[in-house]
Amino acid sequence: MLVLEVKLSGKNWQYEALDEAIRTTNFVRNKALRYWMDNRGVSKNDLQKLCATLAKEFEWAKKLNSQARQAAADRAWMGISRFYQNCQKQKPKKGYPKFKKRGRSVEYKQTGWSLSAERKKITFTDGFQAGTFKLIGTRDLNFYQLEQIKRIRVVKRADGYYCQFLIKVDRSEPQAPTGKAVGIDLGIESFYTDSEGNQIENPRFLRKSEQSLKRLQRQVSRKKKGSNNRKKAINKMARKHLHVSRQRREFAVKIARRLVTSSDVIVYEDLKVCNLVKNHRLAKSISDAAWSMFTDWVDYFAKIHGVHVFAVAPHFTSQDCHQCGKRVEKSLSTRTHKCPNCELVEHRDLNAAKNILARGLGLKNTVGHTGIYTLEETEPLVSSEQSELVKCGH
Ligand SMILES: [Zn+2]
Repeated sequence: MLVLEVKLSGKNWQYEALDEAIRTTNFVRNKALRYWMDNRGVSKNDLQKLCATLAKEFEWAKKLNSQARQAAADRAWMGISRFYQNCQKQKPKKGYPKFKKRGRSVEYKQTGWSLSAERKKITFTDGFQAGTFKLIGTRDLNFYQLEQIKRIRVVKRADGYYCQFLIKVDRSEPQAPTGKAVGIDLGIESFYTDSEGNQIENPRFLRKSEQSLKRLQRQVSRKKKGSNNRKKAINKMARKHLHVSRQRREFAVKIARRLVTSSDVIVYEDLKVCNLVKNHRLAKSISDAAWSMFTDWVDYFAKIHGVHVFAVAPHFTSQDCHQCGKRVEKSLSTRTHKCPNCELVEHRDLNAAKNILARGLGLKNTVGHTGIYTLEETEPLVSSEQSELVKCGH
């Protein structure tokens, strides 16, 4: 799936109609969740049926396009099935699905909207009567067949309303072999170190933005609750957050693409980012470095370019000596690996990257291996905030 995102331009009353649709989506999602909590053995299909009942029961739910109602129930089901999966994998954080106070988007399938002939405008045709919006954006939708647009999603952000077109494309661009297999050690000092000793600098934009975010936060808390000035200050802060998350995505995409197009095999650590974030001292750097978003994009590009990716268990990759295998205990602050056994002296992260690569190649030779080392086929959403939400089950 390819996601094209364009900004919507309309009148205030139209935005209000979109808001109403978004609120209704969230209402249906929460109702579906409630239904699952209250009844044993509820299936996805039961939630679909519930949508029709809700439409009969509530006037506003009826206004929402029927497929959009189903999409809202789908969304509830996504949270539920993720919870089931986490339980199965016995993850420490199960992410029990929660009610959402407010939603941020509404998703339509193939009805409830239509594009103008030249595809520069979109009209919403369901009960909320949001009308016609201009599509602001450089991307040309004409490049794709209408049938390829499988869903659209209206997303509310701090700086306006956006429409995402989810387009089905079978992208396959096999590349010439590069003869390179690399192990990747994701780190705090540098964003990553590969097994050949190359390092990618950490993006410092979040830390830079941190000061201004703190300042904006202070401004919010200084304003009277419920006042218009407070609302303005909150919006200013939200815009800054948005800016940072866009920068973060851009960085992840750029680095991931570069890595994939220069390798045949990539091995990285299957980091349990959720676990790591518990440690507050580290939390900043981790969210800053955005590792999991990066590995999602690596998976994504690898699928397109036919590159093999392996995620290996991260245990002792930085402790063990890659040359002789001896376990050399070191704290996080020890930046150099010094092996008393074979006298190897190397940067801590480089040693780790080499271990990771070795582990990945070991796996590759194991025929029919199944178990925890599975390569998950994830397709990141273009919206970084959303993929983050999915990530940690907030
Ligand atoms: Zn050694």
